[in-house]
Amino acid sequence: MSNRHPGALNEHQVTALTKNTDPYLSCDDCFAQVDTTIEALLGDGTKMSREFTVHLSGCPACFDEAVALAELLAPGAGLSPEVAAAAVTAQVGAVEHA
Ligand SMILES: [Zn+2]
Repeated sequence: MSNRHPGALNEHQVTALTKNTDPYLSCDDCFAQVDTTIEALLGDGTKMSREFTVHLSGCPACFDEAVALAELLAPGAGLSPEVAAAAVTAQVGAVEHA
C-alpha cells in the first residue's frame, strides 16, 4: 500500500501550475519526450511541439534538463554544445511571441 499524498504538490509542480501553461504538459510528459524531441531538433531541425515549448518556458527545471541534454547530444549531431543549447533556447523563446 502506497503512503503517498495524492493532494500534495511539490514545489516544482506548484511552479508549473501557477504559470500560464496552456496547453498543459506535465513534467512527466515532458520528461518522457525530451530526448526524442531534442534528438529531432538537433538532427534535422524538427521543431518542438507547442506543448513542449510552453512547458519549458514555464518550467525552469525541465528547461535546464532540455538544454543539458542538447549539450550532451550536440557532438553526435555535429554541433557545438553552444549551438545546440541556443537552438533549444530559441524554440522556447519563440513561445512568448506566439
Ligand atoms: Zn517541468
